[in-house]
Amino acid sequence: MLNYFRQKRRKIINTFFNKLGINALTNEEWQDILKKFEYKCAYCGIEFNDRVIPTKDHIIPLSIGGYNIKENIIPACRSCNAKKHNKILDSNNLPISLFRSWFFN
Ligand SMILES: [Zn+2]
Repeated sequence: MLNYFRQKRRKIINTFFNKLGINALTNEEWQDILKKFEYKCAYCGIEFNDRVIPTKDHIIPLSIGGYNIKENIIPACRSCNAKKHNKILDSNNLPISLFRSWFFN
């Protein structure tokens, strides 16, 4: 039940940001993120194509207070996204490509 209210609150906040045009992920930014990760899954490195559709994976999940902004989003294939579920990435399971993108771009 608490989770329900959290999600509802998150939705309202994201809608608010979206309306203001602040911090909401645009399609352009999403394309930038995909380019940055060379159109590959940030976890397993599989290349995206017609069959492997990229999904937006939130580093800090929306359900526990993450924002829908480009700094919080990495591309993941469906199976990796499903595996991660609502866990926050820690230093043990951070994808290497994410470190690369932070330090070398
Ligand atoms: Zn993957």
